[in-house]
Amino acid sequence: MDNTEMKRNSPPLDSSTALLGLGNKEITKNSSLVCVPIMADSADLMIADACKAKTSGADLVEIRLDSLKIFNPQTDLQILTKECPLPTLFTYRPKWECGQYDGDENERLEVLRLAMELGADYVDVELQVAREFIDSIRGKKPQKFKVIVSSHNYQETPSLDDLGKLVARIQESGADIVKIATTALDITDVSRIFHIIVHSQVPVIGLVMGERGLISRILCAKFGGYLTFATLEAGIISAPGQPTIQDLLTLYNFRQIGPDSKVFGLIGKPVAHSKSPRLYNEAFKSIGFNGVYVHFLVDDIVNFLETYSSADFAGFSCTIPHKEAAAQFCDEVHPVAKSIGAVNCIIRRHDGKFCGYNTDYVGAISAIEGKLQDHDTGSPQSTSPLSGRLFIVIGAGGAGKAVAYGAKVKGAKVVIANRTYERAKELAETIGADAITLADLDNFHPEENMILANTTSIGMQPKVEETPISKHALRYYSLVFDAVYTPVMTRLLKDAEESGVKIVTGLEMFVGQAYEQYERFTGMPAPKELFRKIMKLDSKI
Ligand code: NAP
Repeated sequence: MDNTEMKRNSPPLDSSTALLGLGNKEITKNSSLVCVPIMADSADLMIADACKAKTSGADLVEIRLDSLKIFNPQTDLQILTKECPLPTLFTYRPKWECGQYDGDENERLEVLRLAMELGADYVDVELQVAREFIDSIRGKKPQKFKVIVSSHNYQETPSLDDLGKLVARIQESGADIVKIATTALDITDVSRIFHIIVHSQVPVIGLVMGERGLISRILCAKFGGYLTFATLEAGIISAPGQPTIQDLLTLYNFRQIGPDSKVFGLIGKPVAHSKSPRLYNEAFKSIGFNGVYVHFLVDDIVNFLETYSSADFAGFSCTIPHKEAAAQFCDEVHPVAKSIGAVNCIIRRHDGKFCGYNTDYVGAISAIEGKLQDHDTGSPQSTSPLSGRLFIVIGAGGAGKAVAYGAKVKGAKVVIANRTYERAKELAETIGADAITLADLDNFHPEENMILANTTSIGMQPKVEETPISKHALRYYSLVFDAVYTPVMTRLLKDAEESGVKIVTGLEMFVGQAYEQYERFTGMPAPKELFRKIMKLDSKI
């Protein structure tokens, strides 16, 4: 699917769209439920997992009958309906809908009818058999019992038009609750599902499977989705992309998300490793700020920002590989960000315009200055301790540009070393520095007491054994900084410390740049001590 087609299928989510649907459903606070899928070999093991789900904060459990190895419907359904500590949703997914049940269809539906008779709160039936099932229970349905009619698309997320027709078909089958699960090929696919949830007259479970669909599982709380699924443990999922219940409730503060919550997030690829959501969400919660910060796995930043252009999506952080494209896209770019050519913070203004900033350079340079001041004099100086120092920057991407620009502004003599020499040269010419290739770095030591800043992803998880410079070459440096912060102690920093060289971690830069982003997002001063505590910055690493 190309971008043009995606845009046609994904109208921008604007505030009026969001408001239109909310009247019907009377959503004044987050009313989305959290459901933990339970998949186990026996009914007893399922009850044990359901107890764990209750302790973890779930509202209900989905009993996946098709995961049972030995199943005696009469006795096992008695156990499951009577002993489960939470409301139950029974699903008996057939192979033809990517479940595990491979038997007779009449027997399968009979089991679901029995679950209803024994006290199930919900059953899930597939659209293909929904009418037959609903006809068969007409007049026998307990008052509180609800039928979820589901449709799964493991290939893609259809156009808005087709999704609308699908919802209509599901409603016509007699469903109490509509469930649509599609697959995200791009994060903008999720906007169509949000659109459907907001506009539907009946309760909708609208989820988009896959890593690119993660926001559907979190922000359904904002747009009024009936429920979301979250797993007891990482990796034990019933559909691709489900978060753990712990992440949903404590990392993303799911219970605090409501229709008026502002959405913030980190735009990147990859992005799942980032600690930003933890930092911002804990800080938001500590002051009661009505916002949520999520991971946005984005392939095309322009398409993303054009799709999620409503006031609901208020601010974004930007990381690899989007910082330069962000600087091109923004309507207004702060002069420092313009000089650096990279934007790592985007604010959507009230008039809808996107404004780009660069907070990376302040974070990195102030942390390096701080360490040099401690080292050189033990007290702050009026001129920068970087002034006149030879400062080698490895990398010429977004972080490289920010650090090189910051060092230059502070009066350092800057040299750029980059894998692609042309990019090093281009950056050097822009800021008035010299350029070398990465291959030349080991033998480049015109002075003693140089400063080294790695701004590439070399050494980042999973390739933690990699380093941009050999250990023996580090003896020419008095301070080494590494922008990588997963892991915090990279091989480069370990080598430097073992060589007696001062180090500054990427976590220092991360927290420093986040102070400024937080202030731009909330309009309030950053809780600096809380940030440092959350990131365990002041404890021994
Ligand atoms: P970017 O714009 O994509 O730039 C990546 C840079 O790394 C380029 O110079 C690239 O060289 C180089 N590079 C990538 N893989 C390489 C390899 N295998 N060997 C040699 N060079 C390689 O990315 P970015 O946004 O600047 O981020 C770079 C790193 O900084 C990431 O690890 C990121 O997590 C970290 N970072 C940390 C913070 C923080 O707060 N601590 C903030 C921002 C960034 P070419 O030009 O040759 O492609």
